[in-house]
Amino acid sequence: MLTGRFAPSPSGHMHLGNAFSALLCWLSVRSRGGRLLLRMEDLDPARCRPEYARALLDDLAWLGLDWDEYVPPARDTEAQGATEGGILYQSRRSAFYAAQLTRLKAQGLLYPCFCTRAQLHAASAPQAGAAPGVYNGRCRRLAARQVAAMLAQRPAAVRAAVPDEVISFCDGVQGPVRQHLATECGDFLLCRSDGVHAYQLAATADDGAAGITEVVRGRDLLDSTPRQIWLLRTLGYAVPQYYHVPLLLAADGRRLSKREGDLSLCALRGRGVQPQAIVGLLAHLAGLCPTPAPVAARQLLPSFDWSRVHKENRVFTEGLL
Ligand code: GLU
Repeated sequence: MLTGRFAPSPSGHMHLGNAFSALLCWLSVRSRGGRLLLRMEDLDPARCRPEYARALLDDLAWLGLDWDEYVPPARDTEAQGATEGGILYQSRRSAFYAAQLTRLKAQGLLYPCFCTRAQLHAASAPQAGAAPGVYNGRCRRLAARQVAAMLAQRPAAVRAAVPDEVISFCDGVQGPVRQHLATECGDFLLCRSDGVHAYQLAATADDGAAGITEVVRGRDLLDSTPRQIWLLRTLGYAVPQYYHVPLLLAADGRRLSKREGDLSLCALRGRGVQPQAIVGLLAHLAGLCPTPAPVAARQLLPSFDWSRVHKENRVFTEGLL
């Protein structure tokens, strides 16, 4: 069954850029009669807050976007206690992520990393054949004896040892994508040294376990997708169809962020802006409507078609609202 998910991080109030992805995600799934699950990506205790999660639910409902109850598959026993009100909360699921790490470890695909921030900075300097920011594998080469000695001193982060493999897929918006994991992605983090599981591991394992068949999200995550496809395959899960939608940029070219409080949905709502005005504007920016005239989300369902959605980032100017 067609199953999509919307996976916001409750690290701030939802802004127009988040609403843009949420609307396209909802239209894609609902226009084809699929199920839409909601997952709170609240893994980072320093950044995520329950009040932001509550506000997110209010904002989605206000926009006219609904979701289905997350009913964990019987084989995913760890998820039983991680849902509330039909929503999956990643912060309650660390035993499940730890179990995925154990499965990867059994395949010899993990290693501990002791690099400090400064070492990481130096370690990701451009090297022969590798893209900037790619980890140079310093800790992959440590001998077992060195690892044991260092583990006795401080906790380690955990990295995936990626294979020398090219991952290709066809994105529903961006078209064909290819990435050589070793040189363009490198050995990536699965768990921080403070025990917080990384987004890459959690999102991938959750997509796999929930049987997600399509993922709609911002274009900023396109680069993460090859490593997620590799993880899904390695963990024995099916790979969904991906749709990476454009980002909304401010007039000066910056990405809208959760720090732009004035463009948060609750601030706009406080200014008396109607949800149909926001949906109409977002649909226009996406390429779905010729003008930014107000429209209810459900009115867009009959004509929704991915082929009309723009591929390039879109500039939002205040005057549009
Ligand atoms: N939590 C991520 C965000 O809010 C989205 C992750 C995903 O859809 O895979 O940007």
